[in-house]
Order: sequence, then C-alpha cells, then structure tokens
Amino acid sequence: MVQTSDRPVPTPSPETQPFWDGCYRGLLLLQECTQCHTLRHPPSPICPTCLSSESTWTPASGKGTVYTYSVVHHAFRRVWEPLVPYVLAVIELAEGPHILSNVVDVAPEAVQVGMPVAVTFQPISETISLPLFRPIGI
Ligand code: ZN
Repeated sequence: MVQTSDRPVPTPSPETQPFWDGCYRGLLLLQECTQCHTLRHPPSPICPTCLSSESTWTPASGKGTVYTYSVVHHAFRRVWEPLVPYVLAVIELAEGPHILSNVVDVAPEAVQVGMPVAVTFQPISETISLPLFRPIGI
C-alpha cells in the first residue's frame, strides 16, 4: 500500500470495509438496519435498537453540526506534529448518528458547538480517504 500521508492509515475490518469503500468513492455511508431502519455509526454487527443482525448501507447527506470538540495542541506522536493545533470533533450528522472526525479549513479558535459542517474526503493512501468536516455557510 502506498501512503500519501504520514497519518496512521485505518485498517478496515470486514464490518467497516463498506464504510471505507464509500469514503474512497466520496460517499459517507451509514449502516441502516433492515428491520427497524435505524441508522448507525460506527459500523457494528448488531442493531442497537432492535438487535437485528441484518443491515444495508445508505448514503448520508454529508452535512451535520459540531456536537462537541477539543483543540489538540500537543502532538503525542511525531506524526501529529505538522497537524497541531487541530480540531478533534464529534459531528452530529443530519441523519442523527455521531461521527468522530476533524474540523478542517478553519482556524481552531473559530470552531463552535452547533457550527454547520459538511464532509470532505482526504486521501491518505491508495485505498483510504478520511472523512473530515469543514464549515459551511460562514
Ligand atoms: Zn434495528
């Protein structure tokens, strides 16, 4: 695998492979329970609402809001040094599920809870693109 970034590259599991395949194609996919239609993230084998093991994948809008965040100022590993300070955030997707990501393309001090954001994909290897979020409407 050729890495295009120094960032650690996620290793997809059988459960998460469709999610990462979607990110690579520019789609933010959510798992949808085929029994009760609950959308969930991160991918899991069992629906947390009805315990069904049957699911499918549904494209999300890619839009959401900052639910909570932290500005990381200290790089605990050398690989993160070029990135600090960066914003680690929980994004509440418009469809409901939360996703842990980064808010990019904005000064960390400008990030606020409730800020509208949209997904953007950053390729970091031949097969992996990270879903990151940038502000919209500001
Ligand atoms: Zn369900």
